[in-house]
Amino acid sequence: MIYLDNNATTRVAPEVFEAMQPYLTETYGNPSSAHSLGQRMKSAIEHAREQVAQLIGAAETSEIVFTSCGSESDNWAIGGFLEQNPTRRHIITTRVEHEAVRNLCVHLAEIGCEVTWLEVNESGQLDLDDLRRSLRRDTGIVSVMLANNETGVLFPIEEIGKIVRQNSDAVFHVDGVQAVGKIPISLKDLEVDLFALSGHKLHAPQGIGALYIRNGVKLPPFIIGGTQESGRRAGTSAVPNIVALGAACELAGNFDEHERIESLRNKLESEILRTIPNARLNGLSDPGQRLPNTSNISFEYVEGENILVHLDQAGVCVSTGSACHSKIKESSPTLLAMNVPYTAAQGSIRFSLGRYNTEEEIDETLRILPGIIGKLVEMSPYDKELKALYAARGGA
Ligand code: PLP
Repeated sequence: MIYLDNNATTRVAPEVFEAMQPYLTETYGNPSSAHSLGQRMKSAIEHAREQVAQLIGAAETSEIVFTSCGSESDNWAIGGFLEQNPTRRHIITTRVEHEAVRNLCVHLAEIGCEVTWLEVNESGQLDLDDLRRSLRRDTGIVSVMLANNETGVLFPIEEIGKIVRQNSDAVFHVDGVQAVGKIPISLKDLEVDLFALSGHKLHAPQGIGALYIRNGVKLPPFIIGGTQESGRRAGTSAVPNIVALGAACELAGNFDEHERIESLRNKLESEILRTIPNARLNGLSDPGQRLPNTSNISFEYVEGENILVHLDQAGVCVSTGSACHSKIKESSPTLLAMNVPYTAAQGSIRFSLGRYNTEEEIDETLRILPGIIGKLVEMSPYDKELKALYAARGGA
């Protein structure tokens, strides 16, 4: 199997599994227990907190709180801030956020908050003057992702943070779920107050995430109960998962093959665009302004879902846009916001590479993909010119 869907989730790394395993079998105490087994669990949690803090460049380990996933971290950050500051109900976010932020903001608008949705251009970029103009006295929170899950386009959070600080009292929340482990991050050098991450995107298991809460930023507890996580999120800690997240962060920090992944991605992308006539890239063409592992490519006049099925049958796993959309036939809101025409948005495929991908896998994908697209173009009820082009080339 060739797994090119690493933005959806990643395989648990053997090193991570090895680190967490003892906490599933031998070292099984409750970290809140006073006995030595409990205390060993507690120190394992604190070690993991240091590993997470190190990877994202937090100033203090106490700024890291463990959660169950990225969606929880996003919900806590935004929902918690509004609970704490009920009079500051103006939120600014973007049209291209993941559902974890987008659907929460839709919900908050339904219950009386005012949401400003920043538009993006055809390359998926924000207009920062729009942000400046949107900031108001009652703006409570600005929520902007660091890396887009579908296109990999990076938003300039350093600049955005400065604009937010200089022009408002709002707190700045960043959904960093897709960026952590893929690009360097140093939160202590940025004007970021809240930052969400998720373990399963960087080779830890599903079911563990973290929220960075800058020292001094007040949020009510996400779960009220015991004193776990300094009373900020009650419930017995998921120690094996927490240890795994720490190990995954350390592994990511020591990873020195980002350039290899980027060059594989560049090869895949440029060869697809060169050899397949109806292929077009979604998102900034400058690969340096996108995550090094992601390409979102539309194949005009064919259904992304059909491409996905054919690739799957050939042993290649990809996504049509966001993973959570894979059963819904609507075009992705992100691609719609980028004004990608319907005929192209419907045929969009996200290729997302990871540390285990090899050049042979990329070559194999490049070998089988043109045939699949050619066959689907032939079957497509649309565009005659495109079919003629394929016919002139001797069919698929
Ligand atoms: N934010 C972004 C940008 C994502 O890509 C995802 C997952 O795909 C999430 C948030 C949600 O993370 P989780 O699956 O851990 O809830």
